Amino acid sequence: MTCGCGQDPWARQPPAGGSGAGFAEARARAEAVGVVAGAPIMAYVLEPLVRDQTIELAHVTILDSAARVVIIREIGRGNRIGVQVPIGAALRAAKNADCRYLVLSHNHPSGDPWPSVDDARLTADAERAAAYHGLLLLDHLVLGQHEFFSFREEGTWKIPS
Ligand SMILES: [Zn+2]
Repeated sequence: MTCGCGQDPWARQPPAGGSGAGFAEARARAEAVGVVAGAPIMAYVLEPLVRDQTIELAHVTILDSAARVVIIREIGRGNRIGVQVPIGAALRAAKNADCRYLVLSHNHPSGDPWPSVDDARLTADAERAAAYHGLLLLDHLVLGQHEFFSFREEGTWKIPS
């Protein structure tokens, strides 16, 4: 890893009532894939974090300059139909790790990854805020049951397994 120092690279806020099993699996997947070369690989790494979730969760993934995962952090916990995604917390996580690249993600418990108008607005806001701070939002992924939507690619795909 070319960025980040002194802290647990997989640091996360303790989930309120959540299970850590998803993080262990996501971590194992990230280590197995190494370089996150595109949205399908990112979706594959993140899928265990939201599998069988009945509420929306928001995560930020921080990547180093070689596109390897440095940190995955849960930054929001919502309800069945929405989650607040704190852009400031996502940007702080990147800055604290001394990394430039971040990916935002959240899940749709309905299974349909098609983004809402608010999701699109959030993506634009986050992209602007990241650029203002010298960071780069690589993507915002919406994870459905077996599919995901990538704002970078602007379409839906099957989550690789
Ligand atoms: Zn959404």
